[in-house]
Amino acid sequence: MKNKLSPMMQQYIDLKEQYDDCILFFRLGDFYEMFFEDAKLASRELGITLTGRDCGQADRAPMCGVPHHSSENYINKLIKKGYKVAICEQVEDPKQAKGIVKREVVRIVTPGTNLNMQSLDETKNNYLMSICNNKDNYGIALVDITTGDFLVTEVKEKRKLIDEIGKFVPTEIICNKDIIESTDFIRELKDRFHSYISQEEDWYFDYNRCVKNIKDQFLVGAIDGLGIKEFNQGVCAVGALLEYLYKTQKSNISHITTLTPYLTDSYMMVDLSSKRNLELVETLREKERRGSLLWVLDRTKTAMGSRLLRKWIEQPLLSKSDIEDRLDGVEELKNKPIVSEELKEFLNPIYDLERLMSKISLKTANCRDLIAFKNSLEMLPFIKKLLSELNCKYITRMKDNFDDLRDVFDLINKGIIDDPPISIKDGGIIKTGYHQQVDKLRKAGTRGKQWIAELEAKEKELTGIKNLKIKFNKVFGYYIDVTKSNLNLVPDRYVRKQTLTNSERYITPELKEMENTIMGAEEKVVALEYELFVELRNKVAKEVDRIKDTAYKVAILDVISSLADVADKYNYIRPVLSNDGDIDIKDGRHPVVEKMMNNEMFICNDTYLNKEDSRFSIITGPNMAGKSTYMRQVALIVLMAQIGSFVPASKAHIGIVDRIFTRVGASDDLASGQSTFMVEMTEVANILRNATSNSLLILDEIGRGTSTFDGLSIAWSVVEYIVNKKKIGAKTLFATHYHELTELEGKVDGVQNYCISVKEKGDDIIFLRKIIKGSTDNSYGVQVAKLAGVPNDVIDRAKILLSELSNADITKKTEIVCKDAIEEIATINEDDTEIITEEKAKEADEPVQLGLFDVMNNNDVI
Ligand code: ADP
Repeated sequence: MKNKLSPMMQQYIDLKEQYDDCILFFRLGDFYEMFFEDAKLASRELGITLTGRDCGQADRAPMCGVPHHSSENYINKLIKKGYKVAICEQVEDPKQAKGIVKREVVRIVTPGTNLNMQSLDETKNNYLMSICNNKDNYGIALVDITTGDFLVTEVKEKRKLIDEIGKFVPTEIICNKDIIESTDFIRELKDRFHSYISQEEDWYFDYNRCVKNIKDQFLVGAIDGLGIKEFNQGVCAVGALLEYLYKTQKSNISHITTLTPYLTDSYMMVDLSSKRNLELVETLREKERRGSLLWVLDRTKTAMGSRLLRKWIEQPLLSKSDIEDRLDGVEELKNKPIVSEELKEFLNPIYDLERLMSKISLKTANCRDLIAFKNSLEMLPFIKKLLSELNCKYITRMKDNFDDLRDVFDLINKGIIDDPPISIKDGGIIKTGYHQQVDKLRKAGTRGKQWIAELEAKEKELTGIKNLKIKFNKVFGYYIDVTKSNLNLVPDRYVRKQTLTNSERYITPELKEMENTIMGAEEKVVALEYELFVELRNKVAKEVDRIKDTAYKVAILDVISSLADVADKYNYIRPVLSNDGDIDIKDGRHPVVEKMMNNEMFICNDTYLNKEDSRFSIITGPNMAGKSTYMRQVALIVLMAQIGSFVPASKAHIGIVDRIFTRVGASDDLASGQSTFMVEMTEVANILRNATSNSLLILDEIGRGTSTFDGLSIAWSVVEYIVNKKKIGAKTLFATHYHELTELEGKVDGVQNYCISVKEKGDDIIFLRKIIKGSTDNSYGVQVAKLAGVPNDVIDRAKILLSELSNADITKKTEIVCKDAIEEIATINEDDTEIITEEKAKEADEPVQLGLFDVMNNNDVI
């Protein structure tokens, strides 16, 4: 079949075969064309017209195309939809080509290797992840090619792998066969994270090949020095990722110079569901930034700062001294408002140095990028000077070797004009005085133009044609323009070139000669300017390490300044950190709810938890009382303290916690195809397996999604397990509607009861939002339903039912109520209740402890 194809189509097919997993953008003149199935797909996805082209066969080849100058938009659209695009260019000058023009794929754009800065969120990294799985070990490597960040770690459990994926939310994942074969897992990843996942061939993950890739990329003789030797799978994940970058980028990725290994347990562990439940970087339902902790804390001025703050929030620290270092920085800036204001002013004009740097290294930066880069560098000496006014250890360490990159600034400043055009190929970009030859050629050009102006004056005089003009256009070059009324004055030596309605155009030999000189000079200068620009860009690229180091310091300053700003604006205080395990918060507030409420009053609350008698708080109170807000606020205050932020309270003593686990409300994880109860129990299982005595647990209404007895039994045994120091002994806030559990106070060591107070006012309740010692046995469900606007008929009926049901087993009672729905409800005496309860327990065949039912019998089961 191939033989019948036209030579160009043959070339297309050959290339397409090599890149069959990509949409091939095939350069034809000013267009990228797509053919056959690619054309059908692209015309559908991009909404562009499908046409056809003769290809040497009976049927025309389906074809569609996009103009080369606006191709970025189209490529982006395809990438966003999860496709890969291979860009095929003409790699020789068509004028010089013998036969068909040579074409090559110069780059493959994939979701994780997108370099189009406009289409990327500057406050987020765009990660490409590689996972290499061998039995129970998962090597994980991550790269953001727009910033050069490269990370590696290794985890043992799939759940931890999911946590890491949840932390970085990569737009694209490559993996080995073992992973791709786990279809449930792949589906889960796609549903949850919408990541584009593909399997790469086994040789990508071959250990020896990977070691070689790593040594070549990071310029080391052995991998030991990189601190990754113990990560066997990690090495394979890194090596495969590099291989993938070589395949897709085709150009040098020399801006990737450092590999950062990390251990998941050097940071506070915040598992994926806690990250979501606590709404750290986006809200649970709308997935929006507004309403998240990041939204409150982010007052950064630069894209780098914003990305770093997100990282800090996602990876709180465990080391007291590291946290104190950051807090010192925040405190000093908060206490020096003038320095802080100035710092913000200097940070404000700084562009995304990291992403600009990558563009420079990848040779996609144009003059305007370099000028943006230069304008940013211009701020650095001011920042450096300002740092001398700050004395805390954290900033002192930074200022001692703060590189203000003056030489890089000077280089660009001397070379590139301040307001260059977008194109780097049309000249007009190099500053006068930078290069002798450029100046010379430009002078020749200018002199030529002057000569032409003089010639115009001279010809006017000689011919007597007053409105004679020498003009220029791209087709004819320079010509003499004479209007029709003056044609009789045109001398013989003028050669006519073109006739227009109102004028004639002429040339003379001497005019053409000068034209050659001017044009020759211009052509030469344009080529030379391009050469000089590329040379200058390469020189900047060589300084990648220094630039990255300064960019990181700028990002840190930006984050510290943002935290200081927030602390000041919202009246936060510096937490006192310790390793004693106590959490003692006075007048704590929820940072997000408080900010959302604007001028309304947020009611503050105290918290006390320790590792001994107050490690487990059982919190009761009606719906809407503020239980979840309170519990989340405690988790957020602890987390904020451990990222180095001030906290919303009047006093806070925070014993550092190793993990925060939350099980809050209905999960949004129904995407994974499990029932709500199943999801809840999976999360509980994870918590019970992984929590330690140094963890903080936030559990909201455990056991709600099943029958009352089931639920209560599970909740009860979960409490016992967590509170038991031999099992877990973690600090826990546990909200529940099972009032029976409050009986545990005084009986089980470590348990304390709290409730959120409400005030009854006639038929209604008023929420006081204050947490107090003690418990409540009223859920005020009917009152809350009334507040929510449930019709009065339903509310009145519910009140009758409630008063009838409240002394009996709800299950049995409900059966009776159902039978006799309209008639009067039969009452059941206390003795009946007891018998029913015991029977039910036997039926349920649950391994519950007798104590539970002892309590149940003495209490209303609702
Ligand atoms: P619960 O978990 O008990 O059902 P929530 O924590 O969801 O209740 O709180 C319900 C609403 O009450 C919240 O959306 C918030 O607007 C408000 N709220 C909660 N706590 C406070 C507080 N301390 N001060 C002011 N308003 C609060």
